[in-house]
Amino acid sequence: MIQQTLVLLKPDAVQRGFTGKIIERFENVGLKIVAMKMVKIDTAQAEKHYFDIAQRHGKKVLDSLVGYITQGPVIAMILEGVNAVENVRKMVGSTYPNEATPGTIRGDYSHISKQYANDNNKVISNLIHASAKPKEAEYEIKLWFKTEEIYDYKITDEMHVM
Ligand code: ADP
Repeated sequence: MIQQTLVLLKPDAVQRGFTGKIIERFENVGLKIVAMKMVKIDTAQAEKHYFDIAQRHGKKVLDSLVGYITQGPVIAMILEGVNAVENVRKMVGSTYPNEATPGTIRGDYSHISKQYANDNNKVISNLIHASAKPKEAEYEIKLWFKTEEIYDYKITDEMHVM
């Protein structure tokens, strides 16, 4: 099934100069970029994006996460492809970088553990966000992009890969 998913290159990915390398991975597998922009979001937008984090991880994680995602610009994009939500999550790797397999984005460019982050009051800087489920993708795409910012065009991969 052809799906769309939301990806954010978080402030650490932008500041460490990894955006090109990460985008290249998605292009390499034939995923189509149908929307993309650089944006510095405010606390209200961050809280909408992470609306369920306090429930899942506690208020402390929510606060540090909002601080992290708002501290610099991010690159937001919508990727389209076959089972894009699941495929992109697989390429992103585990939430906790020390558990992320080498070859995944988080596994290749980060290594912090949940324990270290919690013991040292640090956020888990793991470079990238990707929608976890199709319903979440639907919500996040609407939150981050207007309809007119999403493009419909053809890529050659539609003949060879999709
Ligand atoms: P994912 O980003 O893999 O979907 P979650 O939605 O569970 O993971 O968490 C959102 C983000 O919150 C993570 O990407 C990470 O940056 C941060 N995070 C998660 N758990 C913790 C934690 N225990 N301490 C600090 N930051 C955390």
